[in-house]
Amino acid sequence: MSICDFDILVSGGGVAGLTAAAVFGSAGFSVLCVDPTPPITQRDAAGSDLRTTAFLQPSQALLDRAGLWDRLDAHAAPLQIMRIVDAGGALPEPRIVKDFNASDISDRPFGWNLPNWLLRREMLARLDELPNVDFRPGTGTANLFTRQAEARVGLTDGTTVRTRLVIAADGRGSPMRQAAGVKVKTTRYGQKALAFAVTHPIPHENVSTEIHRSGGPFTLVPLPDYNGLPSSAIVWMERGPEVKRLSDLPDAEFEAAMTERSCALFGPLKLASRRTVWPIISQVAERMYAERVALVAEAAHVVPPIGAQGLNMSLGDMRILLELAQAAPDQLGSAKMLETYHRRRHPEVQARVTGIDLLNRASMMQARPLRDLRAAGLNAIYSLAPVRKTMMQMGLGTR
Ligand SMILES: Cc1cc2nc3c(=O)[nH]c(=O)nc-3n(C[C@H](O)[C@H](O)[C@H](O)COP(=O)(O)OP(=O)(O)OC[C@H]3O[C@@H](n4cnc5c(N)ncnc54)[C@H](O)[C@@H]3O)c2cc1C
Repeated sequence: MSICDFDILVSGGGVAGLTAAAVFGSAGFSVLCVDPTPPITQRDAAGSDLRTTAFLQPSQALLDRAGLWDRLDAHAAPLQIMRIVDAGGALPEPRIVKDFNASDISDRPFGWNLPNWLLRREMLARLDELPNVDFRPGTGTANLFTRQAEARVGLTDGTTVRTRLVIAADGRGSPMRQAAGVKVKTTRYGQKALAFAVTHPIPHENVSTEIHRSGGPFTLVPLPDYNGLPSSAIVWMERGPEVKRLSDLPDAEFEAAMTERSCALFGPLKLASRRTVWPIISQVAERMYAERVALVAEAAHVVPPIGAQGLNMSLGDMRILLELAQAAPDQLGSAKMLETYHRRRHPEVQARVTGIDLLNRASMMQARPLRDLRAAGLNAIYSLAPVRKTMMQMGLGTR
């Protein structure tokens, strides 16, 4: 085996890349993590990521192993109930409300919600504790040369790093994936998401609420109180031109529009952050690896934000990679390890991307008869207890 500078090079310091650095660093591997864009760790700073991540049970366990959960626990809002509301009738009002309660399948909540900017802050603090992890913000990966025994990665600061495994966590346009020549299949919906925080007079009671009418889901996910008031993170998906119109509205008009879209379930909603806009696509890489390269997170798969799947799938990638790396440390980055990774992850990733694509298309439906059909489908699924429980377990990734 050749002598490398680091066991692992993580390309990308987004939430997924920072998690990977903490996971493998905590397991004793030497890790270099690079990102050309330094992470923004303050809520109200320009460019901060105001999305939140609902970490489902299996992800929480991995964060715990990586020494992250102790730092995150105090800031997390538990999700006990997932409420699905169909408001696809003539008026924007609830016509079907179904509660999926975590207590039906487990004695723990479905998951815990945390703001992405705060995740970055706490993850950086964790990396600082790990002497075997080197995080270099302001530096990116520039080129890739691989051989059977190692990868050589050129960085934007002009240096070259030799490593046994490159973990590509550099986003949906992943430069490392492109350098490795792995193709992707992309689906576009002409849809965008508005993500922001609100306060509201009616408490959320740890219920995550997904309201379907047309254009895509409107989801409120619990946050801890903000300035003494109940608070939620909202993801509001609509077709692109409608998102543009909404994001340009003055605050008062926007607040009226979102209160109507929420069917006023929590009373009048008040903006508690700026509005941010995210493009929505589905994408899946044809393979999850190349020689000495493992693709994880959005470098490997992108889904619309429904059912809190995106980053949770990413942590699923890391769970398998870690298991394989620990089972045979001397095989780290080998063809055998990476083929096994692909075989164990790719079918599940493809199934989830397909499932979420279907849910998104159902939620976008404009025509009334189709919206009625969607409501009937929700009723049917819910009325069969075993189906309902299986769906909850599949959503969690425990089945
Ligand atoms: C509105 C919205 C809400 C969501 N809510 C949830 C949720 O509740 N639960 C959930 O599980 N998921 C959710 N997701 C999905 C989740 O946010 C994404 O999966 C996650 O943020 C993507 O993280 P990433 O680190 O893979 O990619 P990114 O955040 O895109 O990070 C990629 C990083 O790579 C860096 N990079 C680029 N080029 C290079 C280079 N050459 N070298 C090194 N680094 C480079 C970039 O600067 C960037 O920091 C949501 C998504 C959206 C859009």
